[in-house]
Amino acid sequence: MRRLRNVKIVATLGPASNDYEMIRALHEAGADVFRLNMSHGDHDEIRARHEIIRQVEKDLGSPIAILADLQGPKLRVGTFLNGAEDLEVDAKFRLDLVDKPGDSDRVTLPHPEIFEALEPGATLLVNDGKIRLRVEDCGKDYADCIVVAGGIISDRKGVNVPDVVLPLAALSEKDLRDLEFVCQLGVDWLALSFVQRARDVEQARDLAKGRAAILSKIEKPTAVKSFDEILAASDGIMVARGDLGVELPVQNVPPIQKQLVRKCRAAAKPVIVATQMLESMIESPMPTRAEVSDVATAIYEGADAIMLSAESAAGSFPIEAVTTMNNVAVEVEGDPTYRDIIEASRSAKRTTVPDGIVAAAREIAETTDVKAICCFTQSGTTAILTSREKPRVPIIAITPLVGTARRLCLSWGINCVLSSGDVTRFKMAVVSAARAARTEGYASETDQIVVTAGVPFNVQGTTNILRVAPCEERLIFSTDPE
Ligand code: ATP
Ligand code: MG
Ligand code: MG
Repeated sequence: MRRLRNVKIVATLGPASNDYEMIRALHEAGADVFRLNMSHGDHDEIRARHEIIRQVEKDLGSPIAILADLQGPKLRVGTFLNGAEDLEVDAKFRLDLVDKPGDSDRVTLPHPEIFEALEPGATLLVNDGKIRLRVEDCGKDYADCIVVAGGIISDRKGVNVPDVVLPLAALSEKDLRDLEFVCQLGVDWLALSFVQRARDVEQARDLAKGRAAILSKIEKPTAVKSFDEILAASDGIMVARGDLGVELPVQNVPPIQKQLVRKCRAAAKPVIVATQMLESMIESPMPTRAEVSDVATAIYEGADAIMLSAESAAGSFPIEAVTTMNNVAVEVEGDPTYRDIIEASRSAKRTTVPDGIVAAAREIAETTDVKAICCFTQSGTTAILTSREKPRVPIIAITPLVGTARRLCLSWGINCVLSSGDVTRFKMAVVSAARAARTEGYASETDQIVVTAGVPFNVQGTTNILRVAPCEERLIFSTDPE
């Protein structure tokens, strides 16, 4: 689906976005990637949503990425008899191990290890820090708390205990089951929650066995400290501001966001900025000015993607939220200041032939009137390198591999086109690139495009050719030597 912006939109699916019509409408409104959060919903629900996404993809003929987000070692409360309770300041509230639905006095916190580690005076933060509980008294299977900051607590809300070090494995039993389930289902990206070190990423990569690319969610202070090694081990990054802003003082989040986005760009790995981007749109059709600024900031910084969580999963205005992000992106990217910022922050470290080729393609796009950069890619690396250059014209990634096409949906500015795979000579590549540029509406017969590819064809990592080509087939045949 042709977009008029470069930054990508990730939309989380949930009860508010369950059926075919809604998921299709979200994609048409601008969602490029759908996130399935394994923390919510059972395998049957996940399977049903997955099936619908693939159906939409088939019906609309454009690749869509699916990102499965593993819960990781996150503490969550159980469920409530009435789905939710309103906790008032100064009220007493108990967390325990009793296996029955919660009410206004108590709820299950099904993690025995946390009760072992808790002490009176400790603070528990619920729902990305919105609710604050102070432990007054605790034992090996309960904690009696006082509500310090109140609010609505509902099913499976997350709990953070910032003052206490908890001995938890990177992948829980549930994560291991979920990982195998989604890999068999066929997802493009696997997001790991609460990554702390490169080893956590490597463990997931070993288990995924190439079936999905690995994205690390940065939401722990330790992950920020070890970011360079985590980035090196990952295929992509999410700045998961919800837990990050709970585990660290909130004012630390914006500088961290800026630093991480910049490092990801230098490493040519896609980065998502996530959480509370349009939070008020869970209940309102209009965002706040501050939220619009937050979305704009992420785009100005050069993030590959911006994300909706509860806004699209459980809110009343999922389509409006996607439309808002889309409109903000179109406006920001049309601002001349945006180009200035993006160009000023371009990373200069180029060490390989493909680096040189993609930089040249970008430069041609800046100095001439070419309408698109078309790159032939197997693994997707050349397309991602081109994306890092953030050229002025659309990037069309042409690949015979559907998995590559889907994965690239997360990267800035990349439009994916599936080729039949029978391109074996460069002249045919130019012909099919020109065809793709014309049929997708990026160029007309009289325009020129840039084509990059590797010869010999269909061998990974060989980008070594750049051609400025006409879009008219007769001209391609009369001007190309072979
Ligand atoms: P994470 O820490 O992984 O971000 P989260 O609990 O913050 O987990 P999000 O996916 O970021 O979850 O936000 C979605 C919100 O929508 C959740 O807080 C939850 O209340 C609600 N929700 C309910 N059912 C679902 C579902 N099936 N999938 C996703 N979200 C759901
Ligand atoms: Mg999280
Ligand atoms: Mg969240």
